[in-house]
Amino acid sequence: MSFRVFRVRRRLRHAMRAVGTRVSHAIGNHPFVTGLTGTVVALAMGALTFTTLYAGRADALQHARETSENLVAIISGDLERNIEIYDLSLKAMVDGARDPVLGTLSPDVQRAVLFDRATTAAFLGGAYILDANGKLTASQDTDVSTSQSFADRDYFSVHQRNPSVGLYISHPYRSRLRDDKWSIGLSRRIDSANGGFAGVALLAIRLDYFRGLLDRINTGHAGSVFILLDDGTMIARKPFNGSDIGSNVSHSPTFVNMASGEAGSYASVSPIDGVRRMFTYAHVPGTPLIAAVAPAEDDVLAPWRRRSAIVGGLTLCFGAVFVLVSWLLAFALRDKLSAQTELIRLAATDPLTGLANRRLLDARLDDEWQRARRTGSPLSVLFIDIDHFKRFNDTHGHASGDDALVAVAECIASTVRRSVDLVARYGGEEFAVVLPDTPADGAATVAESIRRKVQAMQFDAGIGAIATVTVSIGSATGAPDSVGSALALLATADERLYLAKSAGRNRVASGMSAGVT
Ligand code: GH3
Ligand code: MG
Ligand code: MG
Repeated sequence: MSFRVFRVRRRLRHAMRAVGTRVSHAIGNHPFVTGLTGTVVALAMGALTFTTLYAGRADALQHARETSENLVAIISGDLERNIEIYDLSLKAMVDGARDPVLGTLSPDVQRAVLFDRATTAAFLGGAYILDANGKLTASQDTDVSTSQSFADRDYFSVHQRNPSVGLYISHPYRSRLRDDKWSIGLSRRIDSANGGFAGVALLAIRLDYFRGLLDRINTGHAGSVFILLDDGTMIARKPFNGSDIGSNVSHSPTFVNMASGEAGSYASVSPIDGVRRMFTYAHVPGTPLIAAVAPAEDDVLAPWRRRSAIVGGLTLCFGAVFVLVSWLLAFALRDKLSAQTELIRLAATDPLTGLANRRLLDARLDDEWQRARRTGSPLSVLFIDIDHFKRFNDTHGHASGDDALVAVAECIASTVRRSVDLVARYGGEEFAVVLPDTPADGAATVAESIRRKVQAMQFDAGIGAIATVTVSIGSATGAPDSVGSALALLATADERLYLAKSAGRNRVASGMSAGVT
């Protein structure tokens, strides 16, 4: 490894450590950041999950639409192919019926010629030739013979009226020849030699064919699949309901959609049962038939709903737990921080008087000394000692001595009012006051004020006795250009204090000395 790479790595490690420290500091100092971050992360993850789930809904609908399209294509293909086969039979029947030779043949041979191909058709109800009056002239089935007319049927009258209909698919009807069975008729016109109307060739198809086609399709609980004529006549429907056959649904608001386009999809609420369904339909090419598949939206979305309920529910639970844990952590951090702050405060406080202790005094004095050197401002220190305090204790007891100590501490603290000033208990009955940015005469004034106030204090020394104390104060000031140290400044103040003591106590000593005044 080259030295350069080593250096880059070391710098990177350094930078990462610095970032880590900064982040942990930021979190340590602002405990609620943890809770807020946890909440934001949980919300973001929740939003992501719900967006994904919602996209899954669209996917489920799209998938159902594609499946429906495939089903419709299969139904439509089946219908188209079968009707094509039926039409081939019909065309053969028409050709046979028009052949002049036919009349010369025996009935059995005639039947064989006419219905040769029709016999192979599936679901065939019957194959017939009707004359120009709608009377049966030939039937595929040997035992069918009737003199009744079918001229009232649409598969007959439509050709009678119009020579160019081609293949006609009739409305559903109940067969008169075959036990009332539901059928539709596929018919073609037979022209006479001079172009006139000579009757129709008819294939009757049992509606069972359509029903069988639809029965194979799974429509779910509330879905449906159906085959319509393009005028809205129902030919087959699943679920099956006998009364639906032949009914006309053209009045339904959704039928307009089906009638207008070749193929398509749309969703609509059924006016009958209030179920919302997804309709996919296609017109069967070359026929008037429409095939449609309509699964219920509830059926389509049921698996998605189940999955969403589980995933969504779990996401909510985990998110809530995550948020809860984040906030518990935040509150725990806050408690820890305040305990830490309190500990720091206690570590710097004298328990009896509540003043700063010696440790804080040393630290602050050092800081202020450096600052005074930087800014060129004077720094003063007072050293205060209670006079004959041993005697006070001996006379009034230690408890009263403690009370007096607290009272003197309060007296000093209340006299020194600037926020940058520091009053500390140096030890025993000695106090120190740091007065930043204060010249010698200002410090002497403060000291004198303290001395006078303490002297004026009166203590209840028990059994109605009143006691007083006095203090001696040594004051020292570090000049901006002075050499030396904070400790030396304090030592000077201490020396002055002893000067005051030896000069008779209850006084302030603030004389001059080299570097320090
Ligand atoms: P001087 O005027 O020379 O300062 O005399 P002094 O008696 O005050 O000085 P000395 O240093 O001889 O005695 C200090 C006394 O202060 C000793 C002790 O009885 C008393 N003292 C120190 N700390 C405490 C305290 O926390 N509580 C009480 N009640 N008394 C204390
Ligand atoms: Mg002392
Ligand atoms: Mg003393």
